[in-house]
Amino acid sequence: MKIAEIHIYQHDLPVKNGPYTMANAEVWSLDTTLVKLVADNGLEGWGETCPLGPVYDKAHAQGARAALMEMAPGLIGTDCQPLTMNRRMNALLMGHSYAKAAVDIALHDVLGKRLGLRVADLLGGAVTDRVPSYYAIGIETPEEAARIAREKRAEGFGRLQVKAGGRDPEVDIAVAHKVWEQIQGSGMRLALDANRGWTLRDAQFVSRGCSGIPLIIEQPCQTLQEFRKLRPLLCHPLYMDESSEDLAIVTEAIGCGQADGFGMKATRIGGLQNMRAFRDICEANQIPHTCDDAWGGDILAAACTHIGATVRPDLMEGVWLAAPYIDGHYDTENGIRLDGGHIALPQGPGLGITPDQSLFGAPVASF
Ligand SMILES: [Mg+2]
Repeated sequence: MKIAEIHIYQHDLPVKNGPYTMANAEVWSLDTTLVKLVADNGLEGWGETCPLGPVYDKAHAQGARAALMEMAPGLIGTDCQPLTMNRRMNALLMGHSYAKAAVDIALHDVLGKRLGLRVADLLGGAVTDRVPSYYAIGIETPEEAARIAREKRAEGFGRLQVKAGGRDPEVDIAVAHKVWEQIQGSGMRLALDANRGWTLRDAQFVSRGCSGIPLIIEQPCQTLQEFRKLRPLLCHPLYMDESSEDLAIVTEAIGCGQADGFGMKATRIGGLQNMRAFRDICEANQIPHTCDDAWGGDILAAACTHIGATVRPDLMEGVWLAAPYIDGHYDTENGIRLDGGHIALPQGPGLGITPDQSLFGAPVASF
C-alpha cells in the first residue's frame, strides 16, 4: 500500500466561552490544518495539526501548511509504513515535526483501516478503553479557580492543571492553596503550569510558597539551562512541556535528571511513531507523562486518546482535550467526548473517526 494522493485543508476552531488563557497568551480562535492521505487501494486516512497560536510553541498554522506543501510531492508513492514515512519526511525537510505529525497520524489511520486494527493496537495495545483526562484551569482569580476545581472534582476528573505565571507570584501561590483546599483528600492530582511565564526567582517563590502542597510544577521557565539551574532549588517535581521538542531532548532531560515528568504533545514530538518511542523511553525510566496536543479537533483528540490508552496506567498523567472549548465535532457520531473526566477509546479501525469533510471546504492544496 502506497500513498497516491495528499490533500491539505484549513479549518477554524473558535474557542467556546473564550479566550483560553495562559501566562503569555490568550487565544480566541485556532487555525487547524487537516491532512487526508489516499492510498493506492482507495483507503483514506486523516491527520491534523493545530498549533496553539503563534507564540505557545515553535509552531504556527501557516508554517504547518507550508511545510506540508514542501514535503507532499516527495511523499507520493511512499510505502504506508510509519517508520519509512518518518524517514522520508526527514529526508525532505529538516525540523517542522508538528507538520510531519499530521502525515504520521493520517498514516496510522490508513494503516489501521487496512489491517482492521485500532491505532491503539498498532501502537502496542490498549490497556484501557476508558482513558483518563485532566482539566486545565486558565489564568483565574483564586476564588474562580477554586470554583472550577470544585466543579471538575464533582465531574470525575483525576487531575487538574492550573495555569500560572505572567502576574505577581503571590497570586499564583494563593490560587494553588485555594484549589488544593477544594481537592485535598479526593485523590485528585494537581499541576501548576506556568507555560514559561516565570523567572527563576518567581518559580522559587511559588515552590516555597506551596511547599506543603503535593503538586508538580510544569514548564516554569523558557530554557533548558533554566531547568538545569532550577531543578535542585525546587520543593516540587519538575515537568517539562514546551521545552521537550524532540526525543534527544527527552533522553537528555531524563538522563541528566532535569525532568521528573513530561507534558507531551503528539504533534510537537512528530506524531504517533515518535510518541510510541517517547512512551517507551518514559516507561523504561519510570517517568510519568501526559499524551496531549496543544489544541485540535476530533482527529488530534482521537490520536492522543489512542496513544494514551497504551500508556502504563501508573505513569499516565492524562490526555488533555480541547473538546470542552470547541462547539461541534468533525464526526457527529464518533467524535471524541469527555465523560466523567475520562474519554472512551474509539472502537472503529484506524482512529475510529470519519470526519465530515464538507466542514473543511475545498483543500488548500492537493497532490
Ligand atoms: Mg503545559
